[in-house]
Amino acid sequence: MGEICDEIHEECGVFGVYSPENRSVANTVYYGLYALQHRGQESAGIAVAYADKITYYKGMGLVADVFAGGKLFEFPEGDIAIGHVRYSTTGASQLLNAQPVVFAGKCGKVAVAHNGNLTNTKQLRDEMISKNAVFQTSIDSEVIAVYINSLSDGDIVTGIKRACPMFKGSYALVIMTENKLIAVRDPYGIRPLCIGETLSGDYIVASETCALDAVGANFLRDVKPGEIVIIDDSGLRSEFMDGVAEKSAMCIFEYVYFARHDSVLDGKSVYEARKEAGRLLARHCPADADLVSGVPDSGNVAARGYAEESGIPFVEALAKNRYVGRTFIQPDQRQRENSLNVKMNALRSNVNGKRVIIIDDSIVRGTTMRKIVKMLKDAGASEVHIRICSPIIKHPCHLGIDIQTYSQLIGAYKNEKQICESLGADSVRYLTVNQLLKTCKGADVDFCLGCFNGEYPYPLDGYEADKLKLE
Ligand code: SF4
Repeated sequence: MGEICDEIHEECGVFGVYSPENRSVANTVYYGLYALQHRGQESAGIAVAYADKITYYKGMGLVADVFAGGKLFEFPEGDIAIGHVRYSTTGASQLLNAQPVVFAGKCGKVAVAHNGNLTNTKQLRDEMISKNAVFQTSIDSEVIAVYINSLSDGDIVTGIKRACPMFKGSYALVIMTENKLIAVRDPYGIRPLCIGETLSGDYIVASETCALDAVGANFLRDVKPGEIVIIDDSGLRSEFMDGVAEKSAMCIFEYVYFARHDSVLDGKSVYEARKEAGRLLARHCPADADLVSGVPDSGNVAARGYAEESGIPFVEALAKNRYVGRTFIQPDQRQRENSLNVKMNALRSNVNGKRVIIIDDSIVRGTTMRKIVKMLKDAGASEVHIRICSPIIKHPCHLGIDIQTYSQLIGAYKNEKQICESLGADSVRYLTVNQLLKTCKGADVDFCLGCFNGEYPYPLDGYEADKLKLE
């Protein structure tokens, strides 16, 4: 079993609801997680607080599969619930590592759901083990939970404020106690987190606004970098942790690829950012062609922007099989080679004899794009011009994305011309860093651009040996 192609994957999506009136909180979380499914497909979990208990269920697979067979209806009614969808970057893909992490500690029963990746997990874990702590899982989220608990003196907010300055890396947290829902965003605001409210007064916390829409909540505001939002029977209040960065560093890739295009992150519509990327590509990287198309689905919005700006018609060049997921089974190498053909197919009648511009969000290894170029040429395309809505990815990401090594990246050792040759395309052009920043104009945050320019909010320790191997 393995992956189909070289897409990048987000680590997780988180969701929480505070609803002492309506009480069918597990259902609300279920629909919220459904809307966040694109952020993680390996496992899903829901935890519900009721009376002085927390009950939870976690499983491997998609939200619909995990809670099939009446599992959802086994949850009790409750006041608060949180949920999580996971794609693993640290910790193996197994049930033990699924979230929320639930424990009973100094502040009673607590559940934690985490999106992001700590870069100092080993050091924090070793410190705790030397103090006789016992860990059940291999995930950094458990380290977060253990630190918050051990520093809490019985008060969860105190624990969060003391523990967070020790964490390095990205974390958007949704935490639930028996009577509180708490949202926490790291001091750089690397991963998104927002708050909404339903007409009946339920508070919702979610990784993206598309999940607020899914449960009928109105957007209230984004959680600010370094902010701790506490929701309980006295309403919603906010505190800040020590060490909030002067300049935030939201992951710009959320706009390029990870987030759903109907979400608005930190004041900027993802759809608008992607459309503008297409317009800028048309302006700065023109090509003589008969049609422009996107690699479905993430390239489609930008392809429409390119078409509008250039006057070249938008025509679908590729059809996607929507029923192929991450659990697709590829028993041997030969079948793995064919896996893209199962996932995608060229629309021969649209591309035969045509000069095609194909738009995608990014190129990681290049294996998928190489196959797409071949697929289009085999279907009769006379030319294939690739336009990419982001700069060349030259560096790994250690902040919650599965680009872990330089050797995974075609852009770490090839320039635009060499990438074009390697992919067998007629031309390949990328947005520049400045152009990418223009696509996000109007957002309330500054951006991490680490995978493009090597400048991260936290140093990229331990990756240099891998880079040296390439040189
Ligand atoms: S390095 Fe790239 S993918 Fe990682 S957080 Fe920064 S912008 Fe996002």
